[in-house]
Order: sequence, then C-alpha cells, then structure tokens
Amino acid sequence: MQNMNDILNALDEDNHIAYDENIHLLIRKFYKKYSNIDLFVWDFDQTITKFSTIHSTYNKKIKKSVILNKISDPDLYYHLVHYLLGKGKKVAIASWNDKKFFSNQFGGYQLIRFFMDKLFDVVGERQYIFSEYNIVSYMPSQTDSGKNSHLRILSQRFGIEKNKMLLLDDSVTNVQKAAADGYNVCYVPKDVNFSKEFLLNILH
Ligand SMILES: [Mg+2]
Repeated sequence: MQNMNDILNALDEDNHIAYDENIHLLIRKFYKKYSNIDLFVWDFDQTITKFSTIHSTYNKKIKKSVILNKISDPDLYYHLVHYLLGKGKKVAIASWNDKKFFSNQFGGYQLIRFFMDKLFDVVGERQYIFSEYNIVSYMPSQTDSGKNSHLRILSQRFGIEKNKMLLLDDSVTNVQKAAADGYNVCYVPKDVNFSKEFLLNILH
C-alpha cells in the first residue's frame, strides 16, 4: 500500500504549478498596494516555507513534490515572483539560514537555492531567478541582529534605496528593526506564512 508521499513522489515530474483568477487578482492587488516598492525581500524559513528548514536534513535527491509541500504557497509565490519581475521589480531572499552555525550540512545559501530551483523549475544552467546575487543568507553577529545587515547588502548590490525596499518576515524583531532603520516592512504571521490567506488578510 503506497502512502501519500510515495504517490506524490511517483507523480513528481508531473508536478505543475496551479494558476487561476483568484491568484491573479491577489497578485495584482499586492502589486498595487506596494507599487512604490522596487525590491521585494522575503525571509525564507516560515515565510516562504511552512516550517523552519534550519535543523532539517536535506539532500539533492529530494524530489520536487516534497519541496513544494514544504513551501507555504508554491502556486502563489511562483506566479507573484514572475509577475513582479515582468513589471521590472527586483526580488531577493534574506535569511539567517547558515550551514556554518546549524547542524545540517546542506544549509544556508545552498539549501535556499535548491528550494527555489525546484520551485522555479531551474535545471542545470537554465536561467535562474534566485542566485548568490539575490539570496543573502548568513547568521548576523550579536551586535547586528535582525535583517538589517542583509538588507544593506541587497540595497547596495541593487542600487535601491531602503525606502524602495520591502521586507516580508515572520520575525517581529526583524520587522521592527528594519522599520526602525527606514525599510518598508510587512509582518507575515507564522500561522499563515506567505500564502493566499495571508494576502487576503492584508489586502482587504
Ligand atoms: Mg523566518
């Protein structure tokens, strides 16, 4: 008797990203609400993903279906990122996920890149959306906690001022520190993560 995971794995290469008018409407509303933003920065763990990946073990053999099940809302995120890029906006991920500091060997940039390549169907040298350029992933120093050092790097790299940047993060501390430093912020509660439900809550 196959369990659900086995069935999903068997279907793996048939996995596709759903799209409907509901998603499109939410994406357009989100874009309108943040029309002044040029660089959208997401936290990774428990914002893009449903659970923290920090102490989990991953390897490159894990199939796309398994990864999609760990992402809060793969359909929404896939289409939103494409929509924003199509409008000339920039996207990035800022994370504390750092394999030097956590037990998993496959962590930090490598893990985030793997998740995003699975979601965005990047195979081999095909065009990627997330790379070392727009994934900033390391544990900040005690004196520089929060995401502000990550945001500073992205601001300099993209040449985009902080008032044109938005941080979406499930950490109240990260959001408060970024706001205090002049970035736009959006708190993403852990119970919804970055999902259609979350967008419905902030876009009423
Ligand atoms: Mg997080």
